[in-house]
Amino acid sequence: MATTVMWFRRDLRLADNPALLEAVHEAGADGEVVAFFGLDDRLRRPAGAPRLAFLYGCLRALDDAIGGCLVVRAGPPATTVPALAGEVGATVVCCAEDFGPYGRARDDEVAEALAAKGIELRRIGSPYAVAPGTVCTAAGEPYKVFTPFSRAWRDHGWPEPVRAPASVRWTSGVDGDGVPDDPPLGAATLPDAGEPAAQQTARRFFDRRLEGYSAGRDDPGADATSRLSVHLKYGTVHPRQLLAKLGRGTGPDTFRTELAWREFYADVLFARPDTVRRAYRESMRTMAVDEGADADERFAAWAEGRTGYPIVDAGMRQLLAEAWMHNRVRMIVASFLVKDLHLDWTRGARHFMDHLVDGDVASNQHGWQWTAGTGTDAAPYFRVFNPTTQATRYDADGTYVRRWVPELAGLAAKLVHEPWKVDGGPAGGYPPPIVDHAEEREEALRRYAAVSER
Ligand code: FAD
Repeated sequence: MATTVMWFRRDLRLADNPALLEAVHEAGADGEVVAFFGLDDRLRRPAGAPRLAFLYGCLRALDDAIGGCLVVRAGPPATTVPALAGEVGATVVCCAEDFGPYGRARDDEVAEALAAKGIELRRIGSPYAVAPGTVCTAAGEPYKVFTPFSRAWRDHGWPEPVRAPASVRWTSGVDGDGVPDDPPLGAATLPDAGEPAAQQTARRFFDRRLEGYSAGRDDPGADATSRLSVHLKYGTVHPRQLLAKLGRGTGPDTFRTELAWREFYADVLFARPDTVRRAYRESMRTMAVDEGADADERFAAWAEGRTGYPIVDAGMRQLLAEAWMHNRVRMIVASFLVKDLHLDWTRGARHFMDHLVDGDVASNQHGWQWTAGTGTDAAPYFRVFNPTTQATRYDADGTYVRRWVPELAGLAAKLVHEPWKVDGGPAGGYPPPIVDHAEEREEALRRYAAVSER
């Protein structure tokens, strides 16, 4: 009787999981599959409480779905995976391919350690509709600009989703360390974790929000987006499953394009793993950023939502309360940190990774780089978001700001984004702006011009 190991990582689902199908196929009709998840400190240490708690929730849901057979062990994967495979007599370990910088190096190391014992690491599928590195320009180069990438990505296409295996004989009784207790979350409330919750979130989006997605997705006060980012991050849903349900029309077209951004950034990071911490554009690496006690105080005001710019504070408070922030507001707060406070984008990106439940290295670092003007497709450096103009355009009636900044809840729409105009200042101790946007815009332009490639 053959036994194979299914090594779950960012694919915590049973449906449309090609690596799992392979593990079942390899085991054969009488064989068994050992379901394994490795707790790797290299990933756990920098993860932040929301991501860890959500991950543990996904592991508990997966364990429930397979009758309590999930084996969770702590330790370096190059040790734990070969040890488990040896113990259960497996000759094949199946997993989805990881395209991130750390994941690739880790998997190569595990493959080598397994090969030394005569065991194969078989990498099948990926967390993307089209695996990073697949879509290239006519010259065989990775794309550097989103629109041509998304066209080529769409032309390339993707396979239809596959069903969950009809029946799996999961090996039971293998020793493990169990799923850890959730870390303390402070004030944050998280969405439900696990594959059933992902399916429910997707159903709700397709039934109620897809049609109005194109018109509503930029309004942070409307609950108009899918909230699927965290499920895509942990693979409780695969983008293929979403793409397969999208028909024609502006809602589906816009949603497909948003999924393409996720694929684009994974592709960029695959081609340029150094951009996790370094500016994609070399010329931007020497741009002057503020450091020291004053800079630290401005960073703290930003992180705690007390900059005196209501839309920025609302976003930062939503992040602390929901471990999520609306995309438009992510852009506004990121721009404010970099272009109004003159702080290094990596500092903001780190804070996001600590607090976001959907924190994903490729989307986060490149979302920051795009906003900072240091990345691919970068917004031209001279286009500086005005937080007040952005707020009046996208949160016209002030719903979003009133929800997250209760001190301003009593203000009329005209004043809610400019509370400094209220006679005698806003009530409730809301602070005055920590910087003058018009002045800081000029300062940002000076700094960018000094390093710009123009
Ligand atoms: P929807 O509007 O429903 O979009 C559907 C899906 O498309 C999302 O779930 C996501 O997978 C993808 N998507 C949408 N917009 C983008 C985008 N700009 N870049 C990449 N993928 C996108 N997304 C993350 O998943 N993790 C992050 O850590 C992350 N950090 C970001 C940091 C900054 C500074 C910025 C500007 C954007 C960041 N994003 C990140 C992208 C985007 O904000 C989120 O994916 C989106 O807000 C998630 O909400 P949703 O699922 O309701 O989105």
